[in-house]
Amino acid sequence: MTDWKKYERFIAELCSEDYQSQDVTVIPNAKIKGCLSQTIRQVDVLIDSRFGDDRNRRIIVDAKKYSRPLNVKDVESFHGMMMDCSSKVGILVCPNGYSEAAKRRAQNYINLKIVALSELENVDLSLWDNCISDSCNERKERGLVLWDSPIGIGAPSTPVSITTIGKCDVCGDFHIWCWDCGGKFFLGDESELKCNCDHPWFWLTAIEEDESSEGGNEVLKSVYLLLVTLTDALIADRKPLN
Ligand SMILES: [Zn+2]
Ligand SMILES: [Zn+2]
Repeated sequence: MTDWKKYERFIAELCSEDYQSQDVTVIPNAKIKGCLSQTIRQVDVLIDSRFGDDRNRRIIVDAKKYSRPLNVKDVESFHGMMMDCSSKVGILVCPNGYSEAAKRRAQNYINLKIVALSELENVDLSLWDNCISDSCNERKERGLVLWDSPIGIGAPSTPVSITTIGKCDVCGDFHIWCWDCGGKFFLGDESELKCNCDHPWFWLTAIEEDESSEGGNEVLKSVYLLLVTLTDALIADRKPLN
């Protein structure tokens, strides 16, 4: 793994610690279709609403791998990327500082954050598992899975089960880690999964239209990860496609 790849992963982990919650999902190396460019944009870390489209929650994070300080142009091009990604707030991370003008141009909606390369020395990526999805099989370098915090799943008359949801930072596939059987599994974008346990629920992924908070003509779609119980299908996570 190159130092820069490690840097990107470290930033994703920091974002996960800072932002990931029940309502907000953190997606490493996200790929979303830009609303202006209509082309796929790569976002180092996408912080987005977990349950449905709510653009007010969207934050894009870009790690700039420069050996020099950030300048006005860097901030301006990032601002363009934010607009294309429908993000009103952004975070630009760099190891070597930024100019005064860059700071002024960033105003309130772009947060310039310095994370020194020396911090990588203490980074332990061993908590990240290798992606096990077929989608990563053909690639030169397999992705790593960024795990969320564990969640408890309960059904009437069964003890609470702990599960962790993760996403691969290369192919993007959802992963499920069931603490009862210890199994780790992946799901493609439209698939179903039941672990080795006898739980009265299973997991399902589906590409669905978002209920957009902002009208507009564009059809917004996401891959949803659903927890399907006997009575309900609950959204557990979401990966926007635009
Ligand atoms: Zn993968
Ligand atoms: Zn299990």
